[in-house]
Amino acid sequence: MVKFEDLDLDQIVEQVRSGAELERETARAILNCPDERLPDLLSATLKVREDRFGRRVKLCMLRNARSGICPEDCGYCSQSRVSRADIPVYKIQSVADLVEGADRAAQAGARRYCMVTSGRGPDARDVEHFGETCERIRQRFPELEICLSLGLMQRAQAQTLKTAGAGWVNHNLNTSRRFYPNICTTHTWDDRVRTIENVRAAGLSTCSGGIVGMGESDDDLLDLAYATRRLRIDSVPVNFLNSIAGTPLQAQHNLTPAKCLKALCLFRLLNPQSEVRAAGGRELNLGELQGYSLYAANSIFVDGYLTTPGLAAAATREMIARMGFEVEEQD
Ligand code: SF4
Repeated sequence: MVKFEDLDLDQIVEQVRSGAELERETARAILNCPDERLPDLLSATLKVREDRFGRRVKLCMLRNARSGICPEDCGYCSQSRVSRADIPVYKIQSVADLVEGADRAAQAGARRYCMVTSGRGPDARDVEHFGETCERIRQRFPELEICLSLGLMQRAQAQTLKTAGAGWVNHNLNTSRRFYPNICTTHTWDDRVRTIENVRAAGLSTCSGGIVGMGESDDDLLDLAYATRRLRIDSVPVNFLNSIAGTPLQAQHNLTPAKCLKALCLFRLLNPQSEVRAAGGRELNLGELQGYSLYAANSIFVDGYLTTPGLAAAATREMIARMGFEVEEQD
């Protein structure tokens, strides 16, 4: 077994820069970095992060465009059919409301606006609805990056949305193929991979990551991180479980801030050219250490998540400046 103490971090940085994939045992040692060596791991990861993204931080804003009433049974999700969480429940928001959300994103200085719906996947009406929404947003904010997260998607649906102005589709792998049945039984990991392939085939950029802290093993986390690399995902959100009361995973609390940072370093070192986003559960699980997520991630969310609150845009900007980073502004 390779220990973190055995690693030459300078050599790892050079290996990553050369485009070579880290060996699995090296990746495992990174994930199990002793807490007292975390500053060294973060410094090495920062070098890789700066190669492509400098000190820039992209702000993203989420919009829950349809909340609750989902027929799927994802155990981490407050909107699933098996969740008893106390959340707002509403049908798909109007085009005008979604455009107003884009307005708010632009005002907050977000570069990317991500509209998300609960549900297994979009039907023809949903695709038409979001097509119109994308067109309207594109006219009003040509610089704003539009991302859609609508569930399992066919290639033709993705093509329609691309033509309308969407640039990214998010569909998270969430965890390893092996662990997937532990968190969801109504669709499979392979279904999710197919959506990613459909999205790429339609010429859209892919956004797919996972959730750390659902009870998975280190091997599951390693599988997920390698999957994001091998699928050449453009944008990798790393979420940290927010175990919401009323969900099947409500009793799952096994993360520490240090573990979250080590996981982020792993995803960055395996995906040096991709966007890496410190995503949901950042505030809850990293607390005062959340600023260090920027050593690995080049992007974070502002103003909360789908059904949980988060740091407001102004406070996020302050945190970014305090950590010595700068918000990526629109051209
Ligand atoms: S498909 Fe999406 S909205 Fe539905 S339960 Fe799973 S994560 Fe939640």
